[in-house]
Amino acid sequence: MNASLLQEVTALLQAEHGGAIKIRDNNSVGGGCISQAEKLTLEDGSCFFLKSHAHAPPQMFEAEAAGLKAMAAVTPPSAMTPLRIPKVLGTGTRQPFILMEFIEEGRPKPSFSADFGRQLAEFHRASQSERFGFKMNNYIGSTPQPNPWTDRWLDFWREHRLAHQFELARRQGLTDASFNQLADRLLQRVDDHLAAPEEKAVLMHGDLWGGNYLVDKTGHAVLIDPATYYGRREADLAMTHLFGGFDAAFYRGYEEVWPLAAGSDDRLEIYKLYHLLNHLNLFGSSYRGGCLSIMRRFA
Ligand code: ADP
Repeated sequence: MNASLLQEVTALLQAEHGGAIKIRDNNSVGGGCISQAEKLTLEDGSCFFLKSHAHAPPQMFEAEAAGLKAMAAVTPPSAMTPLRIPKVLGTGTRQPFILMEFIEEGRPKPSFSADFGRQLAEFHRASQSERFGFKMNNYIGSTPQPNPWTDRWLDFWREHRLAHQFELARRQGLTDASFNQLADRLLQRVDDHLAAPEEKAVLMHGDLWGGNYLVDKTGHAVLIDPATYYGRREADLAMTHLFGGFDAAFYRGYEEVWPLAAGSDDRLEIYKLYHLLNHLNLFGSSYRGGCLSIMRRFA
């Protein structure tokens, strides 16, 4: 940690503690895709999680902090343990970092998956809102994700999700003429496929794959590393289906609380396409086949 980073981090920790603090240990944490992650242990034994990236794209950690804070502010009415979100202490002003509560990991309780599904459904239901988007743009992985407030979901999804990723892929030379034709046709058909059910916006994690939750000491899920925005909940669930990490009990738990409307399987495919396109843009052409098979089916 350089002197300037240490100074800013220390100031945030002192504000949290209400007095002088001293960092006793500083250990790197593996598993991240983008930034440098560290566990900070203070003299009193308390621990904090620091993520920094000297060349982070603009506002990356501010957007993560805004997402985590927005999610933490959702309070489901039920007696069930709400989804846990790490408390954010702050972000850097002189260099890019985010400092938050450190989550000590534990073992999942036997009812972990069903609880997690129920908690996510309760979370979605408690966060319902009229407009789609978010208070600021953020990132999905390291790809910019635009979130302008939009009244109509279909417009939001077509323009700021699918068309945005198609355009990035085009600009990077990852598409050819037939891919582009299919993309244009699919964009024209978004309304046909996604109009029903007319559900309200919910606050979404936005990037909910198996690597973006932790299990805490109580055996419950903790959401990390979000790409938060208000969208239709099926778009949040789509990511859970893509790379593993969620089992049948999770989906049963979710639907016990808030069942999905008929036809969700097809819509989930179109929502998955956004993430596959993002992977195409981030990691290259090995994801093109997966994108094309969904595009051919729905274009
Ligand atoms: P990146 O944005 O670089 O992908 P992540 O936010 O995924 O980084 O964090 C990297 C790793 O650090 C995660 O896989 C997880 O193991 C751990 N981690 C993330 N947030 C916390 C936290 N609040 N407390 C403890 N460990 C965390």
